[in-house]
Amino acid sequence: MDDKDLGADLANVLIPEDRLQAKIRELAGRIDTDYDGRDLLLVGVLKGAVMVMADLARALHAPVSMDWMAVSSYGSGTRSSGVVRILKDLDADISDRHVLIVEDIIDSGLTLSWLVSNLQSRNPASLEICALLRKPEAAQTEIDVRYVGFDIPNEFVVGYGLDYAEKYRNLPFVGTLAPHVYGGRE
Ligand code: 5GP
Ligand code: MG
Ligand code: MG
Repeated sequence: MDDKDLGADLANVLIPEDRLQAKIRELAGRIDTDYDGRDLLLVGVLKGAVMVMADLARALHAPVSMDWMAVSSYGSGTRSSGVVRILKDLDADISDRHVLIVEDIIDSGLTLSWLVSNLQSRNPASLEICALLRKPEAAQTEIDVRYVGFDIPNEFVVGYGLDYAEKYRNLPFVGTLAPHVYGGRE
């Protein structure tokens, strides 16, 4: 994306591409150490986790499989309610497998806590979470997120998988939107 496009839609680059990629290599190093060559099943949550999943998987030395879930959380407006519907379930049976959920961002944590109890009920050998981004409110939930990329301020971010109205997912960095994009005033 050139500077002209950037200026039009984005207010600010919060995390540039090189910092994202360095962090993913760091997380991959920790995951390789922790799993020590055990077979690992990465479970990506569509669609936001596509970019982090693709880069994390390639940075890992551990043998991995990848599977995907798509969920939608009912809620009014932009708040998620914690009532979750499965749009696409896993293909794999995860019983007795080492499962690592790969998420783009944790805000309230309601979606993720539902997902954790759903997957836990399928009796995996282990279940951990890797989230690229975490907002302040997530600290108030009981979810134990083993791998966190960045703690970010309570702002709406896009890029690197994250969308606003299905756009901006393909940006290689994480940024904030200019107010005019979502109808605010500048
Ligand atoms: P939670 O249940 O943790 O409140 O919601 C998490 C989901 O809301 C994320 O997986 C993501 O889809 C969406 N979300 C939360 N914060 C943001 C944000 O700042 N930007 C974008 N694009 N999506 C967000
Ligand atoms: Mg997500
Ligand atoms: Mg979205």
